[in-house]
Amino acid sequence: MASGLLGIEELEREQIQALLDRGRYYQPMQTQPVKKLDTLRGKTIVNLFFEPSTRTRTSFEIAAKRLGADTISISAQGSSLSKGESLVDTLNTLDAMRPDAIVMRHAASGAPHFLARFLPTPIINAGDGTHEHPTQALLDALTILDHRPSLEGLRVAIIGDISHSRVARSNIHLLSKFGVDLVLCGPAPLLPSEFAQLAPGITLTTSIEEAVSGADVIMMLRVQLERQNETTFPKSEYFQFYGLHLEHVRLAKPDVIVMHPGPINRGREIASEVADSPSSAILNQVENGVAVRMAVLEKVVAQVVTQ
Ligand code: ASP
Repeated sequence: MASGLLGIEELEREQIQALLDRGRYYQPMQTQPVKKLDTLRGKTIVNLFFEPSTRTRTSFEIAAKRLGADTISISAQGSSLSKGESLVDTLNTLDAMRPDAIVMRHAASGAPHFLARFLPTPIINAGDGTHEHPTQALLDALTILDHRPSLEGLRVAIIGDISHSRVARSNIHLLSKFGVDLVLCGPAPLLPSEFAQLAPGITLTTSIEEAVSGADVIMMLRVQLERQNETTFPKSEYFQFYGLHLEHVRLAKPDVIVMHPGPINRGREIASEVADSPSSAILNQVENGVAVRMAVLEKVVAQVVTQ
Protein backbone atom coordinates (compact mmCIF):
# COMPACT_ATOMS: atom_id res chain seq x y z
CA MET A 1 0.00 0.00 0.00
CA ALA A 2 2.53 2.62 -1.20
CA SER A 3 -0.24 5.18 -1.51
CA GLY A 4 -3.90 4.75 -0.83
CA LEU A 5 -5.94 1.59 -0.42
CA LEU A 6 -7.54 0.25 -3.58
CA GLY A 7 -8.36 -3.34 -2.68
CA ILE A 8 -7.71 -6.32 -0.42
CA GLU A 9 -6.60 -8.57 -3.29
CA GLU A 10 -3.21 -6.85 -3.62
CA LEU A 11 -2.46 -6.73 0.12
CA GLU A 12 -0.24 -9.25 1.89
CA ARG A 13 -1.64 -11.01 4.94
CA GLU A 14 0.85 -9.10 7.15
CA GLN A 15 -0.39 -5.72 5.84
CA ILE A 16 -3.99 -6.73 6.58
CA GLN A 17 -2.99 -7.97 10.03
CA ALA A 18 -1.29 -4.63 10.77
CA LEU A 19 -4.46 -2.73 9.85
CA LEU A 20 -6.61 -5.07 11.97
CA ASP A 21 -4.26 -4.65 14.93
CA ARG A 22 -4.40 -0.89 14.58
CA GLY A 23 -8.21 -1.05 14.21
CA ARG A 24 -8.34 -3.02 17.46
CA TYR A 25 -6.17 -0.33 19.06
CA TYR A 26 -8.75 2.30 18.08
CA GLN A 27 -11.80 0.27 19.24
CA PRO A 28 -11.88 1.46 22.90
CA MET A 29 -11.68 5.09 21.83
CA GLN A 30 -15.13 4.85 20.21
CA THR A 31 -16.84 4.74 23.60
CA GLN A 32 -14.69 7.27 25.41
CA PRO A 33 -16.27 10.59 26.38
CA VAL A 34 -13.68 12.56 24.39
CA LYS A 35 -13.02 11.14 20.94
CA LYS A 36 -10.40 13.37 19.40
CA LEU A 37 -6.73 12.88 18.55
CA ASP A 38 -4.39 15.14 16.65
CA THR A 39 -2.69 12.43 14.55
CA LEU A 40 -3.99 14.00 11.32
CA ARG A 41 -4.14 17.63 12.48
CA GLY A 42 -3.55 19.92 9.51
CA LYS A 43 -4.49 17.19 6.99
CA THR A 44 -7.47 17.45 4.63
CA ILE A 45 -9.53 14.44 3.53
CA VAL A 46 -12.01 14.67 0.64
CA ASN A 47 -14.93 12.21 0.63
CA LEU A 48 -16.19 11.84 -2.94
CA PHE A 49 -19.24 9.63 -3.28
CA PHE A 50 -20.76 8.97 -6.71
CA GLU A 51 -23.11 6.30 -5.29
CA PRO A 52 -25.44 6.51 -2.28
CA SER A 53 -23.96 5.70 1.12
CA THR A 54 -24.97 6.08 4.75
CA ARG A 55 -22.57 3.92 6.76
CA THR A 56 -19.35 4.17 4.76
CA ARG A 57 -19.45 7.87 4.12
CA THR A 58 -20.40 8.84 7.67
CA SER A 59 -17.91 6.40 9.10
CA PHE A 60 -15.00 7.74 7.02
CA GLU A 61 -15.94 11.26 7.98
CA ILE A 62 -16.16 10.45 11.69
CA ALA A 63 -12.91 8.47 11.53
CA ALA A 64 -11.07 11.39 9.90
CA LYS A 65 -12.49 13.86 12.43
CA ARG A 66 -11.56 11.64 15.38
CA LEU A 67 -7.99 11.69 14.06
CA GLY A 68 -8.11 15.48 13.92
CA ALA A 69 -8.28 15.92 10.12
CA ASP A 70 -10.44 18.42 8.25
CA THR A 71 -12.96 16.72 5.97
CA ILE A 72 -15.18 17.72 3.11
CA SER A 73 -17.87 15.52 1.57
CA ILE A 74 -18.98 15.83 -2.04
CA SER A 75 -21.70 13.85 -3.77
CA ALA A 76 -22.12 13.48 -7.52
CA GLN A 77 -25.48 15.26 -7.52
CA GLY A 78 -24.04 18.49 -6.17
CA SER A 79 -20.81 18.45 -8.21
CA SER A 80 -19.86 19.67 -11.68
CA LEU A 81 -20.13 16.08 -12.97
CA SER A 82 -23.81 16.87 -13.39
CA LYS A 83 -22.68 19.77 -15.65
CA GLY A 84 -20.76 17.44 -17.95
CA GLU A 85 -17.29 17.54 -16.43
CA SER A 86 -15.35 14.28 -16.84
CA LEU A 87 -14.32 12.21 -13.86
CA VAL A 88 -10.62 12.87 -14.53
CA ASP A 89 -11.20 16.64 -14.72
CA THR A 90 -13.20 16.59 -11.48
CA LEU A 91 -10.46 14.66 -9.72
CA ASN A 92 -7.70 16.91 -11.11
CA THR A 93 -9.64 19.94 -9.89
CA LEU A 94 -9.97 18.52 -6.39
CA ASP A 95 -6.34 17.44 -6.45
CA ALA A 96 -5.25 21.02 -7.24
CA MET A 97 -6.58 22.02 -3.81
CA ARG A 98 -3.98 19.70 -2.30
CA PRO A 99 -6.01 17.33 -0.12
CA ASP A 100 -4.00 14.64 1.65
CA ALA A 101 -6.29 11.77 0.60
CA ILE A 102 -9.42 11.22 -1.47
CA VAL A 103 -11.95 8.65 -0.26
CA MET A 104 -13.95 7.60 -3.27
CA ARG A 105 -17.00 5.50 -4.13
CA HIS A 106 -17.96 4.95 -7.75
CA ALA A 107 -20.38 2.69 -9.68
CA ALA A 108 -17.69 1.68 -12.18
CA SER A 109 -15.45 -1.22 -11.17
CA GLY A 110 -11.82 -0.05 -11.38
CA ALA A 111 -12.58 3.71 -11.32
CA PRO A 112 -10.29 4.40 -8.31
CA HIS A 113 -7.54 2.21 -9.77
CA PHE A 114 -7.69 4.16 -13.03
CA LEU A 115 -7.54 7.53 -11.26
CA ALA A 116 -4.74 6.40 -8.96
CA ARG A 117 -2.52 6.06 -12.06
CA PHE A 118 -2.83 9.80 -12.75
CA LEU A 119 -3.21 11.47 -9.37
CA PRO A 120 -0.44 12.05 -6.86
CA THR A 121 -2.99 12.15 -4.00
CA PRO A 122 -3.62 8.76 -2.33
CA ILE A 123 -7.03 7.29 -3.08
CA ILE A 124 -8.96 5.10 -0.66
CA ASN A 125 -11.54 2.91 -2.34
CA ALA A 126 -14.89 3.14 -0.54
CA GLY A 127 -16.51 0.72 -3.03
CA ASP A 128 -16.04 0.44 -6.80
CA GLY A 129 -18.92 -1.15 -8.72
CA THR A 130 -19.02 -4.90 -8.22
CA HIS A 131 -15.28 -5.08 -7.61
CA GLU A 132 -14.00 -4.30 -4.08
CA HIS A 133 -14.95 -2.63 -0.81
CA PRO A 134 -11.74 -3.08 1.17
CA THR A 135 -12.65 -1.27 4.40
CA GLN A 136 -15.86 -3.33 4.63
CA ALA A 137 -13.83 -6.56 4.61
CA LEU A 138 -11.46 -5.13 7.23
CA LEU A 139 -14.30 -4.15 9.56
CA ASP A 140 -15.95 -7.53 9.00
CA ALA A 141 -12.73 -9.32 9.97
CA LEU A 142 -12.38 -7.15 13.06
CA THR A 143 -15.98 -7.98 14.03
CA ILE A 144 -15.39 -11.73 13.62
CA LEU A 145 -12.26 -11.40 15.75
CA ASP A 146 -14.35 -9.80 18.52
CA HIS A 147 -16.08 -13.19 18.78
CA ARG A 148 -13.38 -15.71 17.80
CA PRO A 149 -9.68 -15.86 18.75
CA SER A 150 -8.53 -16.23 15.15
CA LEU A 151 -9.86 -16.52 11.60
CA GLU A 152 -7.94 -19.70 10.77
CA GLY A 153 -10.21 -22.69 10.17
CA LEU A 154 -13.52 -20.85 10.69
CA ARG A 155 -16.45 -21.76 8.47
CA VAL A 156 -17.91 -18.59 6.95
CA ALA A 157 -21.01 -18.71 4.74
CA ILE A 158 -21.54 -15.72 2.44
CA ILE A 159 -25.12 -15.77 1.17
CA GLY A 160 -27.03 -13.75 -1.41
CA ASP A 161 -26.23 -11.79 -4.52
CA ILE A 162 -22.61 -12.93 -4.79
CA SER A 163 -22.14 -11.92 -8.41
CA HIS A 164 -22.83 -8.19 -7.92
CA SER A 165 -21.26 -7.86 -4.49
CA ARG A 166 -18.00 -5.98 -3.91
CA VAL A 167 -18.41 -6.89 -0.23
CA ALA A 168 -18.27 -10.59 -1.14
CA ARG A 169 -15.16 -10.14 -3.30
CA SER A 170 -13.21 -8.20 -0.69
CA ASN A 171 -14.22 -10.64 2.02
CA ILE A 172 -13.27 -13.63 -0.12
CA HIS A 173 -9.81 -12.14 -0.70
CA LEU A 174 -9.29 -11.29 2.95
CA LEU A 175 -10.73 -14.40 4.57
CA SER A 176 -9.01 -16.81 2.19
CA LYS A 177 -5.62 -15.22 3.02
CA PHE A 178 -6.31 -16.19 6.65
CA GLY A 179 -7.26 -19.83 6.03
CA VAL A 180 -11.03 -19.49 6.37
CA ASP A 181 -13.23 -22.28 5.02
CA LEU A 182 -15.55 -20.28 2.72
CA VAL A 183 -18.98 -21.33 1.46
CA LEU A 184 -20.66 -19.07 -1.10
CA CYS A 185 -24.40 -19.48 -1.56
CA GLY A 186 -27.07 -17.93 -3.72
CA PRO A 187 -29.46 -18.69 -6.56
CA ALA A 188 -27.51 -20.05 -9.56
CA PRO A 189 -27.79 -16.86 -11.69
CA LEU A 190 -26.20 -14.85 -8.86
CA LEU A 191 -23.48 -17.42 -8.08
CA PRO A 192 -20.92 -17.49 -10.91
CA SER A 193 -18.85 -20.68 -10.95
CA GLU A 194 -15.61 -18.64 -11.47
CA PHE A 195 -15.84 -17.61 -7.82
CA ALA A 196 -14.62 -21.08 -6.87
CA GLN A 197 -11.32 -20.13 -8.54
CA LEU A 198 -10.78 -16.91 -6.54
CA ALA A 199 -8.93 -18.80 -3.82
CA PRO A 200 -8.33 -22.40 -2.78
CA GLY A 201 -10.92 -24.07 -0.58
CA ILE A 202 -14.04 -22.19 -1.70
CA THR A 203 -17.26 -24.18 -1.91
CA LEU A 204 -20.29 -23.03 -3.92
CA THR A 205 -23.81 -24.16 -3.15
CA THR A 206 -27.34 -23.13 -4.07
CA SER A 207 -28.70 -24.63 -0.83
CA ILE A 208 -28.92 -22.17 2.07
CA GLU A 209 -29.35 -25.09 4.51
CA GLU A 210 -26.07 -26.60 3.33
CA ALA A 211 -24.31 -23.22 3.50
CA VAL A 212 -25.30 -22.43 7.08
CA SER A 213 -24.78 -25.92 8.53
CA GLY A 214 -22.01 -25.74 11.12
CA ALA A 215 -21.16 -22.13 10.21
CA ASP A 216 -19.23 -19.90 12.62
CA VAL A 217 -20.28 -16.82 10.66
CA ILE A 218 -23.22 -16.18 8.34
CA MET A 219 -22.67 -13.11 6.19
CA MET A 220 -25.81 -11.99 4.36
CA LEU A 221 -25.68 -9.75 1.27
CA ARG A 222 -28.20 -7.29 -0.06
CA VAL A 223 -29.63 -8.00 -3.50
CA GLN A 224 -27.98 -5.28 -5.61
CA LEU A 225 -31.11 -4.31 -7.54
CA GLU A 226 -29.35 -1.19 -8.85
CA ARG A 227 -27.02 -3.52 -10.79
CA GLN A 228 -29.73 -5.66 -12.37
CA ASN A 229 -33.25 -5.54 -13.70
CA GLU A 230 -35.20 -4.41 -10.67
CA THR A 231 -38.67 -4.81 -12.16
CA THR A 232 -38.33 -8.50 -13.01
CA PHE A 233 -36.53 -9.58 -9.84
CA PRO A 234 -38.73 -12.10 -7.93
CA LYS A 235 -38.53 -10.38 -4.52
CA SER A 236 -40.88 -12.53 -2.42
CA GLU A 237 -39.61 -15.83 -3.86
CA TYR A 238 -36.09 -14.67 -3.09
CA PHE A 239 -36.97 -14.18 0.59
CA GLN A 240 -38.65 -17.57 0.70
CA PHE A 241 -35.64 -19.44 -0.69
CA TYR A 242 -32.61 -17.26 0.13
CA GLY A 243 -33.72 -15.08 3.03
CA LEU A 244 -32.15 -15.93 6.40
CA HIS A 245 -34.76 -17.24 8.83
CA LEU A 246 -34.40 -18.42 12.43
CA GLU A 247 -34.54 -22.09 11.39
CA HIS A 248 -31.40 -21.53 9.32
CA VAL A 249 -29.56 -19.95 12.24
CA ARG A 250 -30.35 -23.07 14.30
CA LEU A 251 -28.41 -25.21 11.81
CA ALA A 252 -25.23 -23.17 12.40
CA LYS A 253 -22.89 -23.32 15.43
CA PRO A 254 -24.77 -22.33 18.64
CA ASP A 255 -22.60 -19.19 18.96
CA VAL A 256 -22.85 -18.27 15.27
CA ILE A 257 -22.44 -14.59 14.34
CA VAL A 258 -24.87 -13.17 11.78
CA MET A 259 -23.49 -10.27 9.76
CA HIS A 260 -24.71 -7.95 7.02
CA PRO A 261 -22.87 -4.97 5.49
CA GLY A 262 -26.07 -2.92 5.35
CA PRO A 263 -28.31 -1.44 4.23
CA ILE A 264 -30.44 -4.38 5.36
CA ASN A 265 -33.72 -5.12 3.66
CA ARG A 266 -35.91 -6.82 6.22
CA GLY A 267 -38.15 -9.40 4.59
CA ARG A 268 -35.95 -9.44 1.48
CA GLU A 269 -32.68 -11.11 2.52
CA ILE A 270 -33.02 -11.30 6.29
CA ALA A 271 -35.95 -11.84 8.66
CA SER A 272 -36.40 -9.23 11.39
CA GLU A 273 -36.23 -11.86 14.15
CA VAL A 274 -32.72 -12.75 12.90
CA ALA A 275 -31.53 -9.18 12.34
CA ASP A 276 -32.61 -8.25 15.87
CA SER A 277 -31.49 -11.50 17.55
CA PRO A 278 -28.57 -11.88 19.97
CA SER A 279 -26.61 -13.59 17.17
CA SER A 280 -26.69 -10.43 15.07
CA ALA A 281 -23.44 -8.44 14.92
CA ILE A 282 -24.77 -5.93 12.38
CA LEU A 283 -24.41 -2.86 14.59
CA ASN A 284 -21.02 -4.07 15.88
CA GLN A 285 -19.90 -4.03 12.25
CA VAL A 286 -20.96 -0.41 11.96
CA GLU A 287 -19.13 0.48 15.18
CA ASN A 288 -15.97 -1.30 14.04
CA GLY A 289 -16.13 0.58 10.73
CA VAL A 290 -14.98 3.76 12.46
CA ALA A 291 -12.02 2.06 14.20
CA VAL A 292 -10.87 0.32 11.02
CA ARG A 293 -11.18 3.48 8.92
CA MET A 294 -9.13 5.37 11.50
CA ALA A 295 -6.44 2.71 11.03
CA VAL A 296 -6.61 3.02 7.24
CA LEU A 297 -6.57 6.84 7.22
CA GLU A 298 -3.68 6.89 9.64
CA LYS A 299 -1.72 4.44 7.51
CA VAL A 300 -2.44 6.25 4.26
CA VAL A 301 -2.25 9.87 5.39
CA ALA A 302 0.14 9.92 8.31
CA GLN A 303 2.28 7.10 6.91
CA VAL A 304 2.57 5.83 10.47
CA VAL A 305 4.25 2.44 10.74
CA THR A 306 1.70 0.22 12.45
CA GLN A 307 2.27 -3.20 13.95
N1 ASP B 1 -22.95 -0.98 1.61
C1 ASP B 1 -22.37 -2.07 0.86
C2 ASP B 1 -21.78 -1.56 -0.46
O1 ASP B 1 -21.73 -0.38 -0.68
C3 ASP B 1 -23.32 -3.19 0.64
C4 ASP B 1 -24.55 -2.86 -0.12
O2 ASP B 1 -24.76 -1.73 -0.58
O3 ASP B 1 -25.35 -3.78 -0.29
O4 ASP B 1 -21.36 -2.38 -1.25
